Amino acid sequence: MEALIYLDNSATTRVRPEVLEAMLPYLSENFGNPSSIHTQGRKAREAVEQARQEVADLLGCQPREVYFSSCGTLSNNVALLGRARFVEANGLNKHLVVSRIEHPSVMGPAQYLESQGFRVTYLPVDREGVIRLEALETALRQGASMVSIMWANNEIGVLQPVEAITELVEKVASEQGREIYQHCDAVQVIGKLPVDLEKLKLSSLSFSGHKFGAPKGIGALFLRRLVNVMPIIFGGGQEMGLMPGTEPLANIVALGVASRLARLEQEELQKRLLGYQEKLIGALLQLPGVELTGPSSAHRRLPGHVSFCAGGIEGEALVLKSDLRGMAISSGSACHQGIIEPSAVLRAIGLSPEKALGSVRITFGRDSSDADVEKACAILQKLLTGVLPGAERGG
Ligand code: PLP
Repeated sequence: MEALIYLDNSATTRVRPEVLEAMLPYLSENFGNPSSIHTQGRKAREAVEQARQEVADLLGCQPREVYFSSCGTLSNNVALLGRARFVEANGLNKHLVVSRIEHPSVMGPAQYLESQGFRVTYLPVDREGVIRLEALETALRQGASMVSIMWANNEIGVLQPVEAITELVEKVASEQGREIYQHCDAVQVIGKLPVDLEKLKLSSLSFSGHKFGAPKGIGALFLRRLVNVMPIIFGGGQEMGLMPGTEPLANIVALGVASRLARLEQEELQKRLLGYQEKLIGALLQLPGVELTGPSSAHRRLPGHVSFCAGGIEGEALVLKSDLRGMAISSGSACHQGIIEPSAVLRAIGLSPEKALGSVRITFGRDSSDADVEKACAILQKLLTGVLPGAERGG
């Protein structure tokens, strides 16, 4: 059997060998609880604080602004629901703005808050998935006190103009003499694009370790100093009471090492991913009936992310056929109780339900190679020219 090609790095990544090696001692001899004051406890605390420093170095923030969590989902929930508690407790405007293409871990809290009496503005996006700054400005001038707009969309790879959004939020906040809280889901971005929170004045930002070489079960929330978020879960007070629960020591060490490596390798990886992306997009656009979803320009797309619709074939079918040929990719439609449904993101960019059902996502990662791109091109060419209307049937 041919070697498998894994091209689903936006779903998850393999734990890096260096990360695994670094975390193993913290599953065996260094097993202390960071809250204990004996030697083992102090060693564990030291490891946690070193990892916090490494995450802070990656993000360009202070270590005390980093809160370890179990995943991107928890970070997003704490950022939004915890801030909403503060907003409510302090009589601020109960008005949140999100884009229509947020991940469910942002959309879910937004809908929950709406059910609790918050006003929620869902910003539409254009055909490439980008929000309009004028629509955001209108919502801000109508008194919105919370904004959550993702940096890169997981399904269509679109990058939002995060810097311009932050500047606009700051401008309206200073003109109106009030604080506007801005959260950003950066789960897809870490390691692929530079992030500098000293310059980018976000209130909070979330990310997840398993997207860049750490294991599943660890993420973090950056929360800018002096920005108030109230707890939404309660326990022993760990992570300043925001993410209580005994710290997952080995996972935290893993996140620290993955963050250090990501910082050192980000520039080189970004270049490499852009190269793979460009090559695959070039090959796909030669095939009849293939249409990219999301941005056409690489500058507005997450490095290494390719998403498209192939007329005449369902995305899920293409995923399964690719799997039979040893290639792991994913589709933008999901089967719910026996019915295949296009995702909300694809509908938000205006794709017809039929087209949206044909959507496919291919995401390169650190382990990808030129040979993978070539194999992917060959497999897709075979599968797509076999099923497209007017072409020879096969594969
Ligand atoms: N936000 C985005 C954009 C994602 O792509 C994901 C996961 O795919 C998440 C949030 C949730 O992260 P986690 O899997 O760590 O809960």
